[in-house]
Amino acid sequence: MELPALAKFPFLREAAAHIRAEGITLEELLSESAYARARALGKSRVVEALEKGPPTERVAIDTADQLAQLLAYPVARILVSANADHYLIRRFSLHEAMAAELRLEAEPDDFIVHLAAELGLDLRREDGAFRLHLADFLLYTNTLREPPWKLINQRLDAGYVHLRREKALRVLRNAIERHIEEGLPIPVNDTIESAFRADLADIRERLEKKKATFKADDIGKISITRFPPCMYNLLAQIQNHENVPHMGRFAIVSFLHTIGLSNDEIFRVFGDVPDFAADVTKYQIDHITGTTSPTEYTPPECSTMKSYGLCPGPDRLCLRIRHPLSYYRIKGKERRPPGESAATAV
Ligand code: SF4
Repeated sequence: MELPALAKFPFLREAAAHIRAEGITLEELLSESAYARARALGKSRVVEALEKGPPTERVAIDTADQLAQLLAYPVARILVSANADHYLIRRFSLHEAMAAELRLEAEPDDFIVHLAAELGLDLRREDGAFRLHLADFLLYTNTLREPPWKLINQRLDAGYVHLRREKALRVLRNAIERHIEEGLPIPVNDTIESAFRADLADIRERLEKKKATFKADDIGKISITRFPPCMYNLLAQIQNHENVPHMGRFAIVSFLHTIGLSNDEIFRVFGDVPDFAADVTKYQIDHITGTTSPTEYTPPECSTMKSYGLCPGPDRLCLRIRHPLSYYRIKGKERRPPGESAATAV
């Protein structure tokens, strides 16, 4: 793959190989003035992922600009990793994947097949469209809940699912997002931290501001700072209009209910989920909270969360507990001012 394509899809293995072949070292990338533009572009990649909506296309015309775009990607990965924040990793992965999907629209079918193969997907051309191996289809569409993605609505042939071009690109977006997310964070040492000290401080400040905008009013009397990473992530995904799998919705609804939110308050948290009609959301909330069912469900324990891929990786407190609710309770005790009673802590 040539530099112009690698600059557009820098998450591919071929892109890393190209940088190695150019003989550019990490030290040079961190400090030499020749790579100042790459460092600036890397930072803006992270800031855009954090603060902007859907990506816009960047077109790199000349070779120097293409190389800067390519090198900006490892810089961005470093900046995301140094922050070690699950929310930022998810935002960055999603933003990069959406940008890649946009760029793929202008690429020929053979390129799309090649990129899919690099990501390990068995995607083939077929009759002006594509076919994708069923296993890959199931793996990368499990967050897509709308009827057009249900298996029953697919044209299946000999273990392959027939996909129109735009659907194939949508599946690829999910595969790219997962590929990027699974590769983060990377180890970041003190040299890197000090080279990017000012940029990291700026990104951290922006990140905190962003988190503070999570609709604090909508979650009323509860304290988001006590949330375990799993519930924090689910809440962030919902408020970022990302698709949350059924088990994730079940977990966050039962969690919010157990820590004291009313059904209306929970609904407001869910109110603008794009792929979910309001009455279905209400029905689910009422069912999970025991309003319209005989069972008032409690959130799943950590082992179940892990088995559904909903545990983003434990932090230090997680290592002492087996249930997300314990995390919330312990955090409440840690933060409770002297003299406050236990009854007010949860
Ligand atoms: S260890 Fe438990 S509480 Fe911590 S993030 Fe994972 S599922 Fe949540």
